[in-house]
Amino acid sequence: MWDAVVIGSGFGGAMAAHRLIAAGARVLMLERGDWVPRGEQAWLPGASLELTPAYAKDIPYRCEAGGHGKLIGGYACVGGPSVYYGCVAFRFRERDFTGDRDVVGASGAAWPYRYDELEPYYGEAERLLRIAGDDAGDPTAPRRAAPYPFPPAPLAHVSERVVDSAVDLGLSPFHLPLAIDHGRCIACRTCDTYACAIEAKNDVATTMIRPLVARGCQTSQRQRSGIEKRGQGGAEGGGPHRKAQTHLSSGATWGGIPPPRQLQRGASAGRTAGGQSGNEEPCRNRAMVRISDWHDG
Ligand SMILES: Cc1cc2nc3c(=O)[nH]c(=O)nc-3n(C[C@H](O)[C@H](O)[C@H](O)COP(=O)(O)OP(=O)(O)OC[C@H]3O[C@@H](n4cnc5c(N)ncnc54)[C@H](O)[C@@H]3O)c2cc1C
Ligand code: SF4
Repeated sequence: MWDAVVIGSGFGGAMAAHRLIAAGARVLMLERGDWVPRGEQAWLPGASLELTPAYAKDIPYRCEAGGHGKLIGGYACVGGPSVYYGCVAFRFRERDFTGDRDVVGASGAAWPYRYDELEPYYGEAERLLRIAGDDAGDPTAPRRAAPYPFPPAPLAHVSERVVDSAVDLGLSPFHLPLAIDHGRCIACRTCDTYACAIEAKNDVATTMIRPLVARGCQTSQRQRSGIEKRGQGGAEGGGPHRKAQTHLSSGATWGGIPPPRQLQRGASAGRTAGGQSGNEEPCRNRAMVRISDWHDG
């Protein structure tokens, strides 16, 4: 018997599971993909992009223009695309939350939060993902309550030359915040689109799921959940996890809920649902999220 079933083990799912486990819940995490093998094989050309078995072509990203076709695949594996990502861990800027007319258009879509509400959760996500950075020289950096948990790695010689040239041009170069353990990283020539052979990349599988498993979270790989999208109104659960006593948290978002939002959802679902009992907040893909019982905020 589980208190909660988390669907998907990417950023969103891992952050939800982290909150639930911390609050003592019994958590089952379903993931449609498998663990990605590491070691030297991860450096081979066949370990990148659509050549890897983790690349699933049935993930419904549509390419509206350009690209190599109308449908784009994605990564289905424990840790989600974070296993293959480029480790760049920017926060959104304050103005990103105010709605860009060019993006929002007539859709009426708008962020339900402002940056200041999410700032503590950005800080928590950065600690969990062990981000190394320094935004002192970044003129666009948003307000932060604490520095990055780790300093950036020293610049390579070629990067120093780029910085010098950029400064000469009157630009303001700064370090990218990176989810990389610089004490272990050997600066190999594969990173973005490859899994890290030596687990120096602070991806979700390495940095979050393994510790969660050690704390009692059960993962079930190669399990595609039976939740289906159902128009605008909500999700219809199928399969064994439909029982009302089990709370469903969907981290299977098909791209896009930033970790702070998932952490914040865990802490404030009770308030955002208007203080009603049975707090249910529609997730972006219209599946229902009910993790308010473990809210510790
Ligand atoms: C090559 C690459 C490089 C990137 N580099 C960066 C970068 O440097 N910085 C950055 O900020 N972002 C980067 N991104 C984007 C980033 O990885 C995504 O935005 C992020 O992973 C989305 O997180 P999520 O939790 O919303 O969903 P995901 O991480 O996609 O997690 C969803 C998980 O749910 C699983 N799932 C889906 N449906 C089901 C189902 N029915 N049942 C069970 N499991 C299911 C999926 O397999 C997946 O593991 C990169 C992406 C790629 C592909
Ligand atoms: S060793 Fe460093 S550069 Fe290479 S994949 Fe791992 S984190 Fe990236």
